[in-house]
Amino acid sequence: MKPFISISRLPALIVIACAISLPASAWEIRSFGGHDYVPVAEVATFYGMREESATDSNSKNLAGTGRSLVLTRGSREVVLNGLKHWLAFPLADDGGRLFLSRLDLGKTVEPAFRPELIGGFPRVTTVVLDAGHGGRDAGARSPYELEKNFALDVARRIRDQLKKSGIRVLMTRNSDVFVELQDRAALANRLQNVIFASIHFNAVDNNSAASGFEIFCVTPQGAPSTAYEQTRLRDMVEENGNEHDIHSFALANTIYHAMHGRLDMADRGVKRARFAVLRSAGVPAVLIEGGFLSNSGDARKIASKHWRDTYASAIACGILEYKKLAEQKIAPRNVAAHRNPNAPAPIMAAAPAALPTATGIMLREIPE
Ligand SMILES: [Zn+2]
Repeated sequence: MKPFISISRLPALIVIACAISLPASAWEIRSFGGHDYVPVAEVATFYGMREESATDSNSKNLAGTGRSLVLTRGSREVVLNGLKHWLAFPLADDGGRLFLSRLDLGKTVEPAFRPELIGGFPRVTTVVLDAGHGGRDAGARSPYELEKNFALDVARRIRDQLKKSGIRVLMTRNSDVFVELQDRAALANRLQNVIFASIHFNAVDNNSAASGFEIFCVTPQGAPSTAYEQTRLRDMVEENGNEHDIHSFALANTIYHAMHGRLDMADRGVKRARFAVLRSAGVPAVLIEGGFLSNSGDARKIASKHWRDTYASAIACGILEYKKLAEQKIAPRNVAAHRNPNAPAPIMAAAPAALPTATGIMLREIPE
């Protein structure tokens, strides 16, 4: 279950603030629904991907240079490097040509495809683990246990794993006590070189079939959260969490690949939300939902100590890979590499020679 959402500050423009070496005119920019879009064909060329046969006429499969992207006409749901993601705006279609919003290119596709080119990462010496709920707030429940107790158990297991790797770990709670939402991210905000991870389990009324993992990072300024179809005025607010929204996305993506590579559970995607802990965290932050307590299959897995230990190890592994990315520019493994650690790493080729190659500045060639 997720913390309550509310909004606090004034609108401001989305700006992908970066130097560009490629003139904007080199990309075809089109407007759909008041948003800037670029042709998917140009995106494919830029990343060295080619079109492969699709399962139906509404889909487009692109793959190449160790990357893959599955797009569906009119949809916000895409599959990036084998995992589900949600775009801010649906793909646009003009006479059969597909277009991707410029915001989604900058905030999702680029950091997923070339995380090693993201700039401005804070180092990671400390991890704040936030076991969701606690005390009078039990969260969801399964036939086996309350969400608050599962969340604390998993947070402790992640803590123990990270400490073995020399990471300093702080817990927003380490017992069955109630902690206000604003105090949770505030603990991280007082520290340097820190990331924040909130641990939850899901539940839904009237749909016992709903199952699977999902992970949330803060919604980019100017975009609707995954749960909302339309942009609203509140979406224009610049939140504290937006200072690090690219880093938070990289953290979410890295952890999610590790989770899916190491555990068998349905893929609900990397999603965006302005949950209280995400919008108030002035540090890279994620909220992880580790399956549905309202689903009998998920609930049985979550009730297993062995499963929770594997789950915690996967999250800890994702955090350590994010640390390598942030501090050493080492690209994290994708879900396939986690599933088969002996497989050779995919070749992450540079951008095609016909386009300027990036030299370390985030989104250097993304049209501004
Ligand atoms: Zn919860």
